[in-house]
Amino acid sequence: MFAVFACILLMVRGSVEWAVSSEQASEVAEVAQDVAYTESMMLANGMYMGDDLGQRDRFFFYVFDKAGNLQNYSRASEQLEHSILEVINNGQVPIGDVSMVELKDSKNKKAVLLLTSTDIILNHTAVGTVFVGKDVTAFYKGIKKSTYFMAGISMIALIIAAFIGYSLSGKVISPMEEAYERQRQFAADASHELRTPLAVVMASADMLQSDPSITSPICKQVIDDLKDEVKKMTKLVGDLLTVARSDGNAEKLVVTEFSISETFQQIIRNMQAIAEQKNITLTGNIPDDMVYRGDQQKISQLIMIFVDNAIKYTPKGGEVSVNLQEKKGKKNLLTFSVSDTGIGIAKEDQEKIFGRFYRVDKARSRSMGGNGLGLAIAMGIINSHHGKVYVDSVLEKGTTFTIELKNL
Ligand code: ATP
Ligand code: MG
Repeated sequence: MFAVFACILLMVRGSVEWAVSSEQASEVAEVAQDVAYTESMMLANGMYMGDDLGQRDRFFFYVFDKAGNLQNYSRASEQLEHSILEVINNGQVPIGDVSMVELKDSKNKKAVLLLTSTDIILNHTAVGTVFVGKDVTAFYKGIKKSTYFMAGISMIALIIAAFIGYSLSGKVISPMEEAYERQRQFAADASHELRTPLAVVMASADMLQSDPSITSPICKQVIDDLKDEVKKMTKLVGDLLTVARSDGNAEKLVVTEFSISETFQQIIRNMQAIAEQKNITLTGNIPDDMVYRGDQQKISQLIMIFVDNAIKYTPKGGEVSVNLQEKKGKKNLLTFSVSDTGIGIAKEDQEKIFGRFYRVDKARSRSMGGNGLGLAIAMGIINSHHGKVYVDSVLEKGTTFTIELKNL
């Protein structure tokens, strides 16, 4: 924005300078003609006709005959005269054209002059030369000052405009922020409140299940189904609560140094039962005694999300492997990957799966009990540990998620 502003300013200054200086140049040329005419009349009549240069501000002229002797003049200011005569003697003043010359006066101050020359013609022969000039230093200084002034005013205007824009946008955005915050708070409160009744329903179902007086197979089936549904609901409510809390940054990380090797081994042990149900081989490649600094509970949740997905989206008889990399070059990084031989994820879906409620195959995922929140929660945890996640997947072949986390 400032570059555009500077360009406009330079263009304005350039065009003003050009307009005014071309006006002045034609004036100088006119005066040169006048002086030449007066000189030729004087020579022809042997009398002095006089000229009106006295009334013309800042003009000066010098008349030389063909031999180079000074014949007549209207002097420039004392400080400038020496430099002007030097320029004339050096032949730097064009005939017929007006040129702009910058020179230093005797006090070493910069001066800007418009200079031209014309021949004095008598009976069709050139008998001498008139050099006419005008001191336009003040005019240039004026333009310079006015440019600075314009720049100053525009800068102030720009700052005021930016300030007004900022405060107005704040006025528009803050109600939106408030509405968003209320909605987030509502989701957090609602899911929190739902947890207790769900726990009560679950406990009641457990009680019914263990009641020996209930013998009807239909009743037993209903209780089993009820428990399944309540489990799904509890997971959804828990996930929603996590997402709503992480939005509001309400969840503070509890950072400790812990054995990440043990965390991995424990998760693999716990997930083994679920993998076996699907006849999936779950293997871990976990180096011993590795420690990590971060939120232990969140990191466990993160690993679980990936292992859970790998098992969920791998058909029966497949393989899932969890690999924790030894610390090599990058000491501050913890790298692990979860690979499966499952259904794979299409290229176009690989970024989207980290969005909330996004499931590639909605019908299939739902039947597997997914809500599409797992990877969104994982992303939140990865971000809070300044990490990155990479997906490498081929449809119907399998997927590898690689996760890098920084020590906090
Ligand atoms: P939730 O984890 O909330 O129970 P979900 O598993 O459907 O439900 P995400 O874990 O966020 O949700 O995963 C989003 C989608 O990404 C999944 O529905 C699935 O389509 C796809 N996906 C995730 N992991 C894999 C994987 N290992 N192989 C194939 N597809 C996957
Ligand atoms: Mg999942």
